[in-house]
Amino acid sequence: MRIVVLAGGIGGARFLRGLKQAAPDADVTVIGNTGDDIHLFGLKVCPDLDTVMYTLGGGIDEERGWGRTDETFQVKGELAAYGVGPEWFGLGDRDFATHIVRTQMLGAGYPLSAVTEALCARWNPGVRLLPMSDDRVETHVAIEVDGERQAVHFQEYWVRMRASVDAQAVVPVGAEQAKPAPGVLEAIAAADVILFPPSNPVVSIGTILAVPGIREAIAEAGVPVVGLSPIVGDAPVRGMADKVLAAIGVEATASAVALHYGSGLLDGWLVDTVDAAAVPGIESAGIRSRAVPLMMTDVAATAEMAREALALAEEVRA
Ligand code: GDP
Ligand code: CA
Repeated sequence: MRIVVLAGGIGGARFLRGLKQAAPDADVTVIGNTGDDIHLFGLKVCPDLDTVMYTLGGGIDEERGWGRTDETFQVKGELAAYGVGPEWFGLGDRDFATHIVRTQMLGAGYPLSAVTEALCARWNPGVRLLPMSDDRVETHVAIEVDGERQAVHFQEYWVRMRASVDAQAVVPVGAEQAKPAPGVLEAIAAADVILFPPSNPVVSIGTILAVPGIREAIAEAGVPVVGLSPIVGDAPVRGMADKVLAAIGVEATASAVALHYGSGLLDGWLVDTVDAAAVPGIESAGIRSRAVPLMMTDVAATAEMAREALALAEEVRA
């Protein structure tokens, strides 16, 4: 079975670990969000691609959910001693090596998709990890500071400001001109099932869908498209997704996110058992829905979520 998964960082990566356990023989292609990418200290950092790669490759810091295990922060301290920031973005010593290799390869002319493949040769994530695009796309967030509208890089909004001010708009700068990376449209066309893990609907999956051609390819693939809600009990399980949902006028509820994707894209949507009351409303919008436990407390629980998603896919296919 060929499965395509659109993934952001932590939510996507953890789900993928469960999916691999639930469907060990499946051929999984991951289309990763690169709208969070940022240049720091002259290096190209791809947080979501790395979170997927490290999580599936056994190199992730489990507690934090991002960055390398057994990490130290000597280089960051040395940079700070020179007065060179930003200090708000945590780049560890082990992690630096990944960004150095990536930047070196990009500088030598390799596209991001080829660089990602080369990095994955070390980590063996057990999936094919593709960036959504080889072209630069950078998510910016419009905020108001002292009555003036400003745009900040998504990482600055998310990591430095912890989304403490309201987002007025979220713009994937460059998306309109971006082309899907080699293999992306081919993987979608060849898929048996397409899954939206519980990743951020705006700045992870929304950004991937903003690359012209990807949304259309998914809608036209003619195979079940099933998503899992990142919103449980009217709040994100982790992080501040409610802030960016508000910016696009979507309520932070499992059903509002399903309706935002819409029946033109989604065939099935899993909500958590605490949101069971939302199921009839989602179904009346033409999206098959089930309420099942959606907390990724460990790999076994996550594998069960993946089984439910695949079962719902078979149900809508029939
Ligand atoms: P990011 O790029 O690291 O922010 O990660 P993603 O976009 O892939 O996923 C972030 C989303 O994952 C957040 O909106 C969380 O609500 C969601 N999430 C995290 N853990 C869980 C969980 O255990 N269950 C569910 N249903 N969602 C989760
Ligand atoms: Ca992200």
